[in-house]
Amino acid sequence: MRRDTLTLQARFVFPVEGPPIEDGVVVLDKGRIGWVGPARERAGDLDLGNVAIVPGFVNAHTHLELDHVDIDSGTTAGPEDEVAWLRRVIDQRRGGSEQMLKDAVSRNLAACIEAGTTFLADTTTAGLSWDQVASAPVRAMVFAELIGLKRYRGLQTSDAAWNWLATVTREKQIAACAKPGLSPHAPYSTSPWLYHRAAASRLPLSTHLAEMPEELRLLERRDGPLRDFLEDLGAWDDDWEPIGSRPADYIRKGELRNADWLVAHGTYFDPSEFWQLRPEAGPNGHRVAVAFCPRTHARFGHAPHPYRTLLEKGVIVCLGTDSLASTPTLSVLDEIRFLHRRDGSLSGELLLTMATLFGAWALRAETATGSIRPGKSADLAVIGLPDRDDPDPHRLILESDEPVLATVFEGDILNGPWKGL
Ligand SMILES: [Zn+2]
Repeated sequence: MRRDTLTLQARFVFPVEGPPIEDGVVVLDKGRIGWVGPARERAGDLDLGNVAIVPGFVNAHTHLELDHVDIDSGTTAGPEDEVAWLRRVIDQRRGGSEQMLKDAVSRNLAACIEAGTTFLADTTTAGLSWDQVASAPVRAMVFAELIGLKRYRGLQTSDAAWNWLATVTREKQIAACAKPGLSPHAPYSTSPWLYHRAAASRLPLSTHLAEMPEELRLLERRDGPLRDFLEDLGAWDDDWEPIGSRPADYIRKGELRNADWLVAHGTYFDPSEFWQLRPEAGPNGHRVAVAFCPRTHARFGHAPHPYRTLLEKGVIVCLGTDSLASTPTLSVLDEIRFLHRRDGSLSGELLLTMATLFGAWALRAETATGSIRPGKSADLAVIGLPDRDDPDPHRLILESDEPVLATVFEGDILNGPWKGL
């Protein structure tokens, strides 16, 4: 039987709200953080040794139902064409049965938890992943996807999404530590009325936005490779008019500005639009956050992502893995290690905050999780550390291949050598 109170000691504790604590202690008290501080002030029951305890990772953008999509055999060197990749993702999806999608959810969910994820935002077909996510030891936001430029296709996906929403009662949400949301897929695939219907629901929303240059061209000129792609699929609608000629119009025009938006990617927002991504002040002000997926971004050879300028302008940039169709693992730790290798000027403290607290904020759960602070849920990841010293202890996490050894959710050690203690 699980103990009500357990005190974990580690070489380093990274509370995120506050500096790293060498030889630190975290008290787990009935599923919550009871205390955090140095071991000299309070002895640990269980010394985990040469490890870091960090808040559980928040994966702010993934698609659990998607599997690996091989690199195009025609791509020899250099980045991959994203529109060609989209064709292959759609082929995979169309070729897969519901059971295959659920099997992928099951595998990918387990991989997320193994990777230290305690909170994830999944985008899924008509709530397909809900049952599995709801019964797993993880906090979640499940966005049902809305898609279709043609009216009949849009009606199909919205009917399916609303049928699912009707089943997700408040009691079920509380029992599952999970909430429902809606995800109009992207401006190039999803008709404006679906965006407006999603915003009218008052649910949290997510969308892929400012993802590729082809999207900008379609919005400005209604032509280009995405139109060719949609025509080939039979998905193009001659009557389609975008909400506006700029991606930011999709989250800021009219009623759309009153919703919470989690924007996947956001690479091609114009600097003149950045101010529109800032959250409204106050706890009830609507929220916009950008979920940046570093390895997916790199795969397609995009223009540099403006995360630094966005952060400087007060925009919340959190992190996602996106799906296995575009990234090799579902580990947020792998994403921050990758980003650190690419851009050593981002501080380790900021990277860890983007990987935890900023994601929790984007999902409106920053008072419950996302940092190691007394009163918050005891959602943690335990990461092995290398046998060396570093003046910046964040580098012990970032400049290492040491794995996540354990994931702790609501005070339960789910896996690894200390499982069940
Ligand atoms: Zn995505």
